[in-house]
Amino acid sequence: MVRDIMIRDFFLGFIKIHILYHASQEPIYGLDLMRELETHSYKLSPGTLYPILHKLEKQGYLQAQRQVVGGKVRKYYIATRQGKAALAEAYTKARELLDEISQGEITQTDRKEDNEWNT
Ligand SMILES: [Zn+2]
Repeated sequence: MVRDIMIRDFFLGFIKIHILYHASQEPIYGLDLMRELETHSYKLSPGTLYPILHKLEKQGYLQAQRQVVGGKVRKYYIATRQGKAALAEAYTKARELLDEISQGEITQTDRKEDNEWNT
């Protein structure tokens, strides 16, 4: 599927930035993140999202904390110092990228196609 390829190839980076951002604001957990990402029209299954979270944790960008909520153990994530540094760097890079590509011409039709791929 085109959408899967797009997610693997470059939306994965955007998704990681969303995760780092939200985890730098407050402790977050998987289901909450899935809903948040869906508002940006990234529809991720737990089978896609959880490995991303685990990887970010293993790489030292996120730290997990277990909390019991309603008798169930829920894993919350917060951004580590390294995660916040990566987020700051991503911010700079994203700005630079946006500045550059917004100077070119992107037609309304192109934008529409992008959105369709993404839903
Ligand atoms: Zn977000």
